Amino acid sequence: MARYVCSDCQLIHAGIPQRTATGKRSFQPPEVCGGCGSEDLVATQNWVHHHGGEE
Ligand SMILES: [Zn+2]
Repeated sequence: MARYVCSDCQLIHAGIPQRTATGKRSFQPPEVCGGCGSEDLVATQNWVHHHGGEE
């Protein structure tokens, strides 16, 4: 289950399941944040990087 975080208001959204041409399932981020309307949604696994790694 993919989740996406709005980088503006930090609201978490579930990914939207999509069927690919090969029959696998993948998840897409919502087009816009439901909270603030931002289009800047980051997958949660990348979000951890975003915040954790200040190298
Ligand atoms: Zn937002």
